[in-house]
Amino acid sequence: MPDAPAKAVQTFGLSKSFGDLTAVNQLSLEIKAGEVVGLLGHNGAGKTTTVRLLNGVLSPTEGDAHVLGLDPVTQSPELRRRTGVLTETPSLDERLSARENLQTFAELYGVPRERSHQRIEELLDAFDLGDRGDERVGGYSKGMKQRLALARTLLHEPELLFLDEPTAGLDPVAARGVHELITDASEDEGRTVVMCTHNLVEAQQLCHRVAVLEHGRLVELGTPGELAQRLDRDRGVEFELEPDQRAQARDVLQRHFAHARIHLDERRLLASGLAHEQIPDAIAALVAADVRIYGVSPQQASLADVYFALHAAGRNDAS
Ligand code: ATP
Repeated sequence: MPDAPAKAVQTFGLSKSFGDLTAVNQLSLEIKAGEVVGLLGHNGAGKTTTVRLLNGVLSPTEGDAHVLGLDPVTQSPELRRRTGVLTETPSLDERLSARENLQTFAELYGVPRERSHQRIEELLDAFDLGDRGDERVGGYSKGMKQRLALARTLLHEPELLFLDEPTAGLDPVAARGVHELITDASEDEGRTVVMCTHNLVEAQQLCHRVAVLEHGRLVELGTPGELAQRLDRDRGVEFELEPDQRAQARDVLQRHFAHARIHLDERRLLASGLAHEQIPDAIAALVAADVRIYGVSPQQASLADVYFALHAAGRNDAS
């Protein structure tokens, strides 16, 4: 692959309106080469429109973008050679076999025949389709079609992949296979990945950073961990204790942390409203009172918690 610039994507106040509707609103974003970045947001938040602006399918109403150092509006043929795009509904020719589909696409992308033959076999193997590569795609399962569509986006060895909901509709096993392929594309092959997803677990597992869009605006950007930390949320800490000491532990914690809300159940004690920095003090207080502690688990916010909190904030702003 040619040396990618340190910044794979840069946008400056990128906006796109369709009539009165602003689908992407003043988006300023930088994505480093080799990063996997997830675009999250509800239906209609502007994710697909953002991808279409970045790969030159749409022209912005305002602002601009540099993708692999190119202007997507004026340099889209070169950009297309260096990027791979998986759309929400990839079109494969169902009458042709996987090999034939890939060969057709290789010709379209100008991959020389001597190279394309080897590359197609590599991809069919890597995507676990080698044995069935001569069957008509019409008889493939959804997961096989999705793997083939993903293989097709990699055929011309693009530096940057745009993947729109790459695992939509796949069962967990097929989705995990696609996750591994995306991770390999980034970690082993150094490709940059920009992916739209509604799957928050997928985003948390795969993405170095996520960008959350709401009504076309970027409302959060960071690593899944950073976003979870930023969420000012009443986290709880779960303590696993000697069963007959739980009531005593509750009194100890309540004395030291008057603001904490303590809940006891059959097995555990859950203390809500403790700051992360107060956890060592809580343990010290319990130990000083001779309470036997078997486990301490801070309840961390997940990306899903962040996402729903942001959405709730958006709804409150709108009302
Ligand atoms: P989804 O999760 O449903 O795929 P999305 O976040 O990808 O949604 P977009 O497809 O980018 O959202 O759409 C953003 C908004 O722009 C929507 O209100 C959509 O109806 C509108 N929109 C997108 N493309 C067009 C178009 N070509 N003409 C008119 N409106 C459009």
